[in-house]
Amino acid sequence: MNDVNSMLQDIRWETEATRRYTGRAALSPRVMQAMAEVPRERFVPEDMRALAFRNGPLPIGHGQTISQPFIVALMTDLLEPEPDDVMLEVGTGSGYQAAILSRLVRKVYSLEVIEPLARRARALLADLGYDNVEVLHADGHAGLPEHAPYDGIIVTAAASTVPPALIEQLKPGARLVIPVGRPGWSQVLKVIEKRIDGSVSERDVLDVAFVPLTHGTGAGGD
Ligand code: SAH
Repeated sequence: MNDVNSMLQDIRWETEATRRYTGRAALSPRVMQAMAEVPRERFVPEDMRALAFRNGPLPIGHGQTISQPFIVALMTDLLEPEPDDVMLEVGTGSGYQAAILSRLVRKVYSLEVIEPLARRARALLADLGYDNVEVLHADGHAGLPEHAPYDGIIVTAAASTVPPALIEQLKPGARLVIPVGRPGWSQVLKVIEKRIDGSVSERDVLDVAFVPLTHGTGAGGD
């Protein structure tokens, strides 16, 4: 089995193993296709390429990590992406999650608070021809009102509480997928849905471990 196929196999296995928490026995074929297509090895540091397809997180510099493949696939699936959707990501990191989403929706806006990471992800995504992703250097707590409302919002860093702006910027019927809890060992991955009538429902999916969502960009946005 090659590296990509073994990664896909691990995702299928872990999806099956966690189905009682996630409510998903299998992920959508579109999501699995995107996981198969996007070259994950390009999003990890060069000296770690041999480990790129292992089902675990990897360091990407600046104290940050690229999430493990299963979590990327699950969070993407929980967003229920449709081809015409416009989505917002908070926490660009390597750009890998944004690249996966870019294969599934019309447009992705992604916010990154660490400027060099934003710059590197922007360059890599352009190099790979993923031209429907826009990476912005900003603190994601405020979301991105300019292009709201969104068909889905994904946060890939742990928030101690759900930033209200992100719920405001959801379309009715859309979901926010976000790990919530104190930084440290584990948080709860939540799916927050804004119903058509504007009310909000919340579901706990799985215990996860993310780097913290921090405040402020230091030097300011660009
Ligand atoms: N989605 C990424 C993984 C990101 S790790 C990937 O696929 O590689 C979490 C990222 O969130 C880090 O890069 C971190 O710098 C960023 N981050 C933390 N707090 C943030 C904030 N308030 N706004 C935007 N990005 C933030």
